[in-house]
Amino acid sequence: MGLIVQKYGGTSVATPERIKHVARRVVNTKVAGNDVVVVVSAPGDTTDHLIELAKQVNERPPAREMDMLLATGEQISIALLAMAIHAIGHSAISLTGAQVRILTDGVHTKARILEVDRERIHRELARGNIVIVAGFQGVTPDNEITTLGRGGSDVTAVALASALDAQACEIYTDVEGVYTADPRIVPEAKKLDFVSFDEILEMASSGAVVLQTRAAEYAKQYNVPLHIRSTFSEAEGTRIGEVTAMEKVRVVTAVAHDRNVAKITITDVPDVPGIAHRLFSAIAAKHINVDMIVQSASREGVTDISFTVAATDGEAAAEVAQEVAREIGASGVMWEGGVAKISIVGAGMVTNPGVAAKMFGALAQEGINIQLISTSEIKVSCIIDEKDVERAVRAVHRAFNLDQIDRV
Ligand code: ADP
Ligand code: ASP
Ligand code: MG
Repeated sequence: MGLIVQKYGGTSVATPERIKHVARRVVNTKVAGNDVVVVVSAPGDTTDHLIELAKQVNERPPAREMDMLLATGEQISIALLAMAIHAIGHSAISLTGAQVRILTDGVHTKARILEVDRERIHRELARGNIVIVAGFQGVTPDNEITTLGRGGSDVTAVALASALDAQACEIYTDVEGVYTADPRIVPEAKKLDFVSFDEILEMASSGAVVLQTRAAEYAKQYNVPLHIRSTFSEAEGTRIGEVTAMEKVRVVTAVAHDRNVAKITITDVPDVPGIAHRLFSAIAAKHINVDMIVQSASREGVTDISFTVAATDGEAAAEVAQEVAREIGASGVMWEGGVAKISIVGAGMVTNPGVAAKMFGALAQEGINIQLISTSEIKVSCIIDEKDVERAVRAVHRAFNLDQIDRV
């Protein structure tokens, strides 16, 4: 008997039938003798629809009100799931982030969890309840409702598993686990039985939405092993944890892609100390995360600086860049959408030369132009034209024979 945290994503609770199915799975876990805490996302495309709705009344809605709106999506799922569990004769209680007291900072639409209050959840479990918590939302110490960034229900699940010292944290989704590439784009992608914390973090931050980046970060930081599984099958899924000596280190584990990318270039930046600091501090002050940064070679005392941010931050980042460009006397700012990032991730890359070259070769053979490159010890990323991204993912997947990976 232990405490198990289960998280069900939007597709898993998209219809009344699916909610009933989830109710049965949750009850089975409870009947097997476990305490169960369930985290759910908003049904189906509810969050996207809410964002659309907001845009119809205000092109740039205030972030506080956006959170007020978006938090309602998860509230639908928790209530319906609790009702479905009651309908099959078990007791359950739904709780919002504020009722649990999932305390966050005040950065609306991308808040960070500061602390999780365990008291209410323990009290409800002790009463024999299955506890259903709204994912993706929290509350500031001043009782302002916040959300944790898109895909943030994963973060709620990992934070609860860590705070409650859960025996397992199971993430139920609409695919059978973590694959060597998005299986919707690469049909021959292989499911991986095990992925290390480092690899899932790099995959997530490269666009593999199967686990949200900050959830991967928390899992690694607080050593919360995860089990990613399908809501709709009994397949074993993918385990995520610390690498042990037993685990075979793969050169390349997966190809990831991200369409949510904007590239911003500031042209003719004076090549003097302190400029990069000025630009990127101004962007950080707006809570915008910068991903890749490239500075061209200096010519006649000026350089160009290009960087990428999430497309959803593109406009705000370009505005900041424009202000800074004016102050420092740069000639202009270009903001390009229509780009995407393709990355290869693998823990064994660091000791195997030629990996990046092979990736570039696969792209060249497809006639795909690379606009920016960045590398880390276990990742190589390229910015390319968005229209080429699916072809690129398939070509790179093929070049590394990932469809033939033995299932370690
Ligand atoms: P949920 O609503 O359950 O959180 P998401 O849509 O956020 O589900 O994440 C699951 C999706 O992640 C899959 O449907 C799949 O298209 C996508 N995905 C991207 N990369 C991968 C990958 N490497 N392995 C598995 N799924 C991936
Ligand atoms: N409903 C939120 C979203 O669509 C959170 C989540 O699904 O994890 O981003
Ligand atoms: Mg998700």
